[in-house]
Amino acid sequence: MSDLRELYQDVILEHSKAPRNYRELKTANHKAEGYNPLCGDHFTIYLDLEGDAIRDVTFQGTGCAISKASASMMTQSVKGKSKEEATKLFERFHQLVTGEANGDRDSLGKLDVFAGVSEFPVRVKCATLAWHTLQAAIEGKQDPISTE
Ligand code: ZN
Repeated sequence: MSDLRELYQDVILEHSKAPRNYRELKTANHKAEGYNPLCGDHFTIYLDLEGDAIRDVTFQGTGCAISKASASMMTQSVKGKSKEEATKLFERFHQLVTGEANGDRDSLGKLDVFAGVSEFPVRVKCATLAWHTLQAAIEGKQDPISTE
């Protein structure tokens, strides 16, 4: 049986307390805002896209430990990747947190710590908010996105 202690693994707690890339990005040429009204998570993702490449990505905002750690680790995971690679990574991450991962978990690297989220469906929106917001930023959507 998974329990909450297992969900909030050390690495998740550590990222939520000291999030990486937590700042406004002055060189951003794309940004998007995302809300998760169920939990109150609210983040802005700043993106520096050069052609197809994610040159830099940062975030700011407030949210629960899961959402903040997910945003922090997402910025680390997609920086330097292409838009297509980031989208594929999100697909695999989404499968992981919804319990549909099919043996391709190695490619997720550190993001694998979010596997426990699949035991807590209400937390899936927390874990995926930053990723949805990143997609909106990549696509240049103007309106804030919501998980509802
Ligand atoms: Zn949350």
